[in-house]
Amino acid sequence: MKNNILVIGGGPAGLEASAALSRMGYNVILAEKEKRLGGHLAKWDRLFPDQIPAKEVLDTLLEGIRDVKCFTETDVNSINLLNRSYNAMLSNGITILADAVLLASGFDMFKAEKKEEYGYGIYEGVLTNADLEQAFKEGKSSNPAPMAIGFVHCVGSRDEKAGNPACSKVCCATAVKQAIETKELYPDAKVYCFYMDLRMFGRHYEDLYLRAQKSGIRFIRGRVSEVAETAEGRLLVKAEDTLSSRPLKVTLDRLVLMAGMRPSEAGHKVGRQLNLSVEDDGFFSAKDGLLSLQKSKLPGFFYAGACTGPKTLPDTLHEARSAAMEIDRYIKENFRK
Ligand SMILES: Cc1cc2nc3c(=O)[nH]c(=O)nc-3n(C[C@H](O)[C@H](O)[C@H](O)COP(=O)(O)OP(=O)(O)OC[C@H]3O[C@@H](n4cnc5c(N)ncnc54)[C@H](O)[C@@H]3O)c2cc1C
Ligand code: SF4
Repeated sequence: MKNNILVIGGGPAGLEASAALSRMGYNVILAEKEKRLGGHLAKWDRLFPDQIPAKEVLDTLLEGIRDVKCFTETDVNSINLLNRSYNAMLSNGITILADAVLLASGFDMFKAEKKEEYGYGIYEGVLTNADLEQAFKEGKSSNPAPMAIGFVHCVGSRDEKAGNPACSKVCCATAVKQAIETKELYPDAKVYCFYMDLRMFGRHYEDLYLRAQKSGIRFIRGRVSEVAETAEGRLLVKAEDTLSSRPLKVTLDRLVLMAGMRPSEAGHKVGRQLNLSVEDDGFFSAKDGLLSLQKSKLPGFFYAGACTGPKTLPDTLHEARSAAMEIDRYIKENFRK
């Protein structure tokens, strides 16, 4: 008889791991709380560093799960470990007895309205990176064209006051990619990036940055301190240029906040039931941060993707395949003697 594997979360990590486990011959049950599969990838338009359409990547991932039993709009109501198996009651009324579980619950976006000084939810011209991706995806553009647009890095990340001193890793590359796309859409607009450091660590990311510089995007090292609305309904942005140690004031039409990645609340609801440990940053803690990244402290319970911390899509997909291999090894060692 085939062993049951329960995968919680149908984002890139859950989809890729489910496909790999299904190819290995396991009976994979995937629970996704939202109406559609794809997690955050389903919300993005084009991906850094190469600007590949996110839809192409998602379609490829979805092709891999043809033999997986998928339940959408389905959360996990309760889960507990019984002898060597996990008993999970899903919100659709179905109970699953699984020999292994993969938690791929991903991340939540930082709630930008918490940084009141940036005016998100107050001024119409202030939006987040996720809002801008959505607008690009829907092919929306502004009429009249904006004359000046700013991107603020590190919103809710590397920020003690916001309760998160850690870096979200993906938002520098997202900002540079979105700044280039904005400049392409509005060639006459002035585009600014307000950054602390640029963390363009991946292959081809530096090329993206050079492209942005060549296209005339202005990079200003400094934090935005305040945003106010002018009488004409534009945005007056105050910052400090830390390279020249001068205060700076610019008037913009749009301000895009690079909201960071935070632990998923729905993932933690599952974690609390099993008493899973978390790190100081609130993301789940692997059994061993070097040798067993996909293992939790519980037997047969594994992690993949952004539920253990911010990461890019390629890293997420690598982890998903690695988790599938760990699960296969665990099942062979514990259920097939
Ligand atoms: C603004 C932004 C832009 C980005 N752009 C890029 C890019 O261009 N290139 C790149 O490489 N990376 C990019 N990333 C990173 C990329 O989005 C992540 O690497 C990827 O989404 C992580 O996948 P995941 O499956 O771990 O998590 P998610 O995408 O968050 O998916 C998790 C899924 O689990 C579900 N879930 C959670 N809890 C439960 C539960 N209890 N029961 C059932 N379902 C549950 C959620 O609904 C969700 O569908 C970007 C990130 C951000 C913030
Ligand atoms: S990736 Fe860049 S914008 Fe995001 S938190 Fe790190 S330094 Fe800030």
